[in-house]
Amino acid sequence: MCGIVGYVGTQQASPILVEGLTRLEHRGYDSAGLAVLGSTGVKVAKRAGRVRDLADGLPKRFAGKVGIGHTRWATHGPANDVNAHPHTDAKGLVAIVHNGIIDNAAALRQRLADEGADLVSDTDSEVLAHLVGRSGADTLEGKVSDALSAVEGTYGLAVLHADFPDRLVVARNGSPLLVGVGDREMYVASDLAAIVRHTTTVAHLDDGEIATLTATGFTTYRLDLSRTARDATTLDIDPAAYEAGDHESFMHKEMLEQPAAAVRVLRGRLDERFGTAHLGGLDMDARETRAIRRVKILGCGSAYYVGQMGASLVEELARIPADAEAASEFRYRNPIIEPDTLYVAVSQSGETIDTLLAVQEIRRKGGRVIGLVNVVGSAIARECDGGIYLHAGPEVAVASTKALTNMFLGFALLALQLGRVRDLSIADGRRLIAGLQRLPEQIEEVLAQEEALAALAGRLAEAESLFFVGRVRGFPVAREGAQKFKEISYRHAEAYQTSELKHGPLALISPDVPTVAIVPEDELTDRNVGALHEIAARRGPLVVVTHEGVDLGDVEAERVVVPRNERELDPILMTIPLQLLAYHAALRLGHDIDKPRNLAKSVTVE
Ligand code: GLU
Repeated sequence: MCGIVGYVGTQQASPILVEGLTRLEHRGYDSAGLAVLGSTGVKVAKRAGRVRDLADGLPKRFAGKVGIGHTRWATHGPANDVNAHPHTDAKGLVAIVHNGIIDNAAALRQRLADEGADLVSDTDSEVLAHLVGRSGADTLEGKVSDALSAVEGTYGLAVLHADFPDRLVVARNGSPLLVGVGDREMYVASDLAAIVRHTTTVAHLDDGEIATLTATGFTTYRLDLSRTARDATTLDIDPAAYEAGDHESFMHKEMLEQPAAAVRVLRGRLDERFGTAHLGGLDMDARETRAIRRVKILGCGSAYYVGQMGASLVEELARIPADAEAASEFRYRNPIIEPDTLYVAVSQSGETIDTLLAVQEIRRKGGRVIGLVNVVGSAIARECDGGIYLHAGPEVAVASTKALTNMFLGFALLALQLGRVRDLSIADGRRLIAGLQRLPEQIEEVLAQEEALAALAGRLAEAESLFFVGRVRGFPVAREGAQKFKEISYRHAEAYQTSELKHGPLALISPDVPTVAIVPEDELTDRNVGALHEIAARRGPLVVVTHEGVDLGDVEAERVVVPRNERELDPILMTIPLQLLAYHAALRLGHDIDKPRNLAKSVTVE
């Protein structure tokens, strides 16, 4: 959500900044802007709308080898040219870009206005420019530190100042920010994607950290300007992973990458001899693992739904009570944190603010929390007591596919390890391992049905409203299916437990309202088929995601058949066709699949 990119070095900044902002576009934004520092001082260009429009409208003279860029996701004031970042101080010496929210902006605006400052925008962020501009400190670091000591809230911040033309000063508190090291040039970005073509040598800043970037290096400080020690590390990332290549969208590319991504998350973590998993990152010995009496999973959106799938896995395999909760709600109900509960925070980016705040609440109360995170070195990964990296590779599309699949597999590994220090037999452990090893190929088989699923999706796209239903293991699958469908096709899609249909939603079933039903071959098949009859009797069109040979009686339905695996692993194989249905419905409707309206990849403001 929203983005920052900055540059200081030997090249012209603006092309690098424009390119960086383009790579942040999928994060969601409503306006964009740049500031550069050249021989004639600070120049700013900004406007509501797309990065492309900003780039097309850049003034001819926009030279400078120091610069900052921003994509804005408006929280304070409408998306218009004036509210777009960068913001400047009264003298036009300072320019800032800010991600996040300044909670005490109203009071600061009042104070600044009383002191005679002329605030021109409606944003909370503008106060930062004025505070830096008015500070009496004699270094830029000192000015930024002064300004930040007055603000409450979250920020990823980058500042340039005409009196200090060799540097950028940046700061982080609750909004992602990393420093990238180049050859006689330095970068800053809210997301590696913005700078990955230039460098993969990065240092992630901690909350409460300030950094100075000059062409030759960077220095980090606490807010009080005492020095911190932070080294850059070179990440093993192929910049090509951030390109869509021949695919019409990132989502399509990432769906097809799922078999390979699944292999990566399992690699080196399965122990066939003992029928268990090895998750070194958990940092817990067998005795500590045995002492866990409850598992609580926290995530938002798809990560929450896959958390529900994970809770089933943990309950089934380890027989430990487990549930999932929306991380965005968790800390607002003054949660009871138990010493023998294992908390699991799930987030692709590792920067989801609601999940991060939940992690902080748990840690503040002394709980043990592990992360299921894709982005190495991200905030959640660093704040947790341990974790499982997902190794899905960069996921660019807003709608999560390969990261979600790997989250499921991460839970399967966790459940297996928890189960094997308890009552799960070695034979059952091996049964699960064999199932996990079959999965990548089976995912491939489901993906191979794309053409048929596209045709089916075309028909579903015509409906204004749809139901997705499933039971027990199948219910989170239905929730995730409905989520994907609505977020990219903009059709109303609602998930229900199949068993709940007759307690309400059956009233809506009609020839215009299709239902996608999850009907695996399991202990509930007969009951599920009973519900299908009830839908069919009301002439509701049906798509049934099921296994070969499941007897649907005389129910008329479009069948989507997925391969059989172990029952515990059914949910992920049944999720894959729902991704393709959502994708092709959105394609048919002509939507911008990688940038669905109103949504952002990682939600970094609360
Ligand atoms: N709160 C700021 C604004 O509304 C920054 C939002 C962002 O993170 O882009 O301008």
